[in-house]
Amino acid sequence: MVTAVARRLAERRRRLDAVLAPFRLSPHALRQVKGKMRRELERGLRRDMQGTATVKMLPTYVCGTPDGTERGKFLALDLGGTNFRVLLVKIRSGRRKSVRMYNKIFAIPLEIMQGTGEELFDHIVQCIAEFLEYMGIKGARLPLGFTFSFPCRQASIDKGTLVGWTKGFKATDCEGEDVVDMLREAIKRRNEFDLDIVAVVNDTVGTMMTCGYEDPKCEIGLIAGTGSNVCYMEDMKNIEAVEGNEGKMCINTEWGGFGDNGCIDDIRTEYDREVDEGSLNPGKQRYEKMTSGMYLGEIVRQIVIDLTTQGLLFRGQISESLRKRGIFETKFLSQIESDRLALLQVRRILQQLGLDGTCEDSIVVKEVCGAVSTRAARLCGAGLAALLDKRREDQGMQRLEVTVGVDGTLYKLHPHFSRVLRETVQELAPQCDVTFMLSEDGSGKGAALITAVAKRLRQYLYA
Ligand code: BGC
Ligand code: MG
Repeated sequence: MVTAVARRLAERRRRLDAVLAPFRLSPHALRQVKGKMRRELERGLRRDMQGTATVKMLPTYVCGTPDGTERGKFLALDLGGTNFRVLLVKIRSGRRKSVRMYNKIFAIPLEIMQGTGEELFDHIVQCIAEFLEYMGIKGARLPLGFTFSFPCRQASIDKGTLVGWTKGFKATDCEGEDVVDMLREAIKRRNEFDLDIVAVVNDTVGTMMTCGYEDPKCEIGLIAGTGSNVCYMEDMKNIEAVEGNEGKMCINTEWGGFGDNGCIDDIRTEYDREVDEGSLNPGKQRYEKMTSGMYLGEIVRQIVIDLTTQGLLFRGQISESLRKRGIFETKFLSQIESDRLALLQVRRILQQLGLDGTCEDSIVVKEVCGAVSTRAARLCGAGLAALLDKRREDQGMQRLEVTVGVDGTLYKLHPHFSRVLRETVQELAPQCDVTFMLSEDGSGKGAALITAVAKRLRQYLYA
């Protein structure tokens, strides 16, 4: 009898390990990922690779970090993260340098995220109108910085052509269009107020700028949230797409597209392929789909379905809830993996999701979550290590000391992600001394800072 139970448990263990083994990447596999990322980063910078590189390395026309002289009142929009927000940012310079912000969160209904471009931008302008009304500043014609967290090809700081939607967005007639023009036109259509749109900014860039305001060593911005991306200051001489060899410019890598040419298919699992096929952009953003909050829960769900089908979970019964896409939001993963949570509480969370299981089931689900989020953090760390070593070698240094500004719900809220990411970077880029700096609201503050810098330069140019 006892041996029968023991045998059953051992068998269950063996099959669970078989399912999770491909998620446990060896140091060797990670070093390979690092090497491939390095190659794709270099390729994206080449002129002859523009349009075909999977890591797009987009020039941002942001050429310096703030110097503390920025000042004024700005509006900022933040589109593409967990929430859509409109912000009023007041920046003071000098000895009493400070940034004050007021913001309001607005919902973007699914039918608008995935409707027409006009509807989307009309909705955005409607939210701005409500905010201006609420703050009592409708007549002010404030300068605006637009944090637009999607890949944009820029020809200047105030122009950005959307390359393709990512994450949960899929509005029609936007790809290939200038998002600043679309915003201007929507403001004109409403004909109620005017704004001076000065800059369009990726959230990674806003994050880097925000941290750069406090720490001049910050030359990298990382987002590990709904989506995944990194930006950094690159030497102009290495950016073939932009004229000039002096100074530096911030490059938005769009590393989420890493692997879209199949180069990491060797480590993608059948679950990753399922998630990709069920997504809004099949075949695209393969690295992002293994590393960011929007997809981790979906990977977990695919594994749980498989384990249930194999009879290893939930008495082999696939419930209605389990069939629903998106039931495992990142916040549940964070809760389930929290060390402070007793098993009974994990079980209760699963019950809330409509998954009625035993405590033993809870242990298994928790292990699955851990395998998926650990792989995400390690892959993200391998990518970052590639960038760090590139910068170190570019500058001919034995050691590189650098600060990385970080934002994103996964990094900030998950109980283990940030630690595993840092450990992996340490392991794979031992010659780099990295300080990770949490950004306080990079998307809003950063957009305002960039707007301030851009306005100052514009005045200077036209004076
Ligand atoms: C987008 C990036 C963005 C990242 C984080 C990705 O899906 O392509 O532009 O920086 O998400 O929000
Ligand atoms: Mg954000």
